[in-house]
Amino acid sequence: MEPNLAKIETLVRQLLVELGEDPEREGLKATPSRVAKSLAFLTHGYRASLEQVINKALFTQDTSSMVIVKDIEVYSMCEHHMLPFFGRCHIGYIPDGKVFGVSKLARMVDMFARRLQLQERLTEQISEVVMNESGAKGVGVMMEARHLCMMMRGVEKQNSVMITSSVLGSFREHLATREEFLTLVGRRG
Ligand SMILES: [Zn+2]
Repeated sequence: MEPNLAKIETLVRQLLVELGEDPEREGLKATPSRVAKSLAFLTHGYRASLEQVINKALFTQDTSSMVIVKDIEVYSMCEHHMLPFFGRCHIGYIPDGKVFGVSKLARMVDMFARRLQLQERLTEQISEVVMNESGAKGVGVMMEARHLCMMMRGVEKQNSVMITSSVLGSFREHLATREEFLTLVGRRG
């Protein structure tokens, strides 16, 4: 269901008043409507469907070598503070006859990132969807992100990067596979 933009505008106007602002002043006049549209966009992942995102872009390929897609940009919002976190996501998988079109992995990441999230859960959801949709033998996902809720509110935390990973199937069972993945994405396990 699409969010009710008019209702969000009303709420944002009230929020501005509560914060001690005057929503009628020139610079803020259009702010509630801009914020409503912006929030609708930043949460469009709630309304995306997996079938549409993947859209049959799975190709038959007879390979059992690891496929790695590095540096997929991630922009999401933490569910605790509704502030952005952003960074990069690396996905590796060992196909079992089917591989994704390259842009699809990025679109799948976006589908889950454009919601209120926890980085840990986002990482897991990505690994599960890659595993389930491709029937891969194993999947590894690693995400490095900076959280504005830490950077803007804390002190001495401005440069901290949070790293999360999720491994499934052969990536979980075999140390060598996991290490190959971590080496290829540039981190040592
Ligand atoms: Zn937060």
